[in-house]
Amino acid sequence: MNRGLRDLRLSVTDRCNFRCRYCMPAEIFGKDYPFLAEDKVLSFDEIERLVTIFVSLGVKKLRITGGEPLLRKDLPTLIKRLNAIPGVEDIALTTNGVLLPKSAAALAEAGMRRVTVSLDSLNDERFRLMNGNRSGVQAVLDGIEAASAAGMPVKINMVVQKGTNDQDIWPMAAYFRERGHILRFIEYMDVGNSNGWKWDHVFSSKQILQLLEEHLPLVPVEAHYVGEVASRYRYQDGSGEIGFISSVSDAFCSTCTRARISAEGKLYTCLFASKGYDLMELLRTDETDESIREAIASIWTNRNDRYSEERATRTQSPAKIEMSHIGG
Ligand code: SAM
Ligand code: SF4
Ligand code: SF4
Repeated sequence: MNRGLRDLRLSVTDRCNFRCRYCMPAEIFGKDYPFLAEDKVLSFDEIERLVTIFVSLGVKKLRITGGEPLLRKDLPTLIKRLNAIPGVEDIALTTNGVLLPKSAAALAEAGMRRVTVSLDSLNDERFRLMNGNRSGVQAVLDGIEAASAAGMPVKINMVVQKGTNDQDIWPMAAYFRERGHILRFIEYMDVGNSNGWKWDHVFSSKQILQLLEEHLPLVPVEAHYVGEVASRYRYQDGSGEIGFISSVSDAFCSTCTRARISAEGKLYTCLFASKGYDLMELLRTDETDESIREAIASIWTNRNDRYSEERATRTQSPAKIEMSHIGG
């Protein structure tokens, strides 16, 4: 499909301090869940080596994710090392935000350019219901504030689930418009096998747009570049911008330039893949950088993933990797 390799999403841990129902439902990700042992997670040396190889194949942008990436010990040290790799143009973070007050300054200092904080509601009760009762809203708002104060632009990601938090769409938009943060609405996706996803739970971007326009008119904004995931709109009165990530209603597989590496070093060429390619095995044997590079190039060249484009016509759902392994 002639899709380049431009972005790399690195999951630095499979663990999380939240239990969002749509991602890591507590009844499945409980005390006995077999999270990865420390020696089964890519080390900083291994991540740095892999990123150098990916950059030689065209990657320019990195996104650090999880699980919850801020649970990874010494994350700023890793960011500093990745930032020093020639060819890395941008490093961003996706986080639930609650640990940002502790680490934002060190991350910014290390070279983290941008942060996306996930927040699904400004209503404490609903937010707790969605995150498995792990955090109230204020802790996340404090995280957003800390990242901003450290000089990192912050975007907000809101997953919208019909019947769960659709009443929060306008309050979220109004709140972040006032504070100058771009809010992006994410359609609830059928990632993994554990969240009980149904078409009925999806609140589409089109419905969100209609709802917002009852409050304020919006106009579409040109994409910054080919392959931009979010469709962007701005308020007609110039008071801000929002985005829509419409993986379900408006698939963007034809411009998908994103590779994903799980904490245990598996390469996934699609968010909905059943199978990853074991790069850790290559790293921990005597393979040279050149042979790992060739292996990655061959996997990428031969990929034909287009799950979202095929979703509506699929009769059976395949076994899929969990979101918490590859971080979105
Ligand atoms: N823990 C971090 C966080 O929540 O931002 C990073 C990892 S999380 C898996 C990355 C993003 O995926 C978050 O914005 C989260 O809301 C989103 N996400 C998780 N499960 C999802 C689903 N089923 N549908 C749509 N987005 C989802
Ligand atoms: Fe954790 Fe992020 Fe998944 Fe929520 S969405 S459970 S914060 S990894
Ligand atoms: Fe890329 Fe797979 Fe998402 Fe399509 S479904 S945009 S191929 S990750």
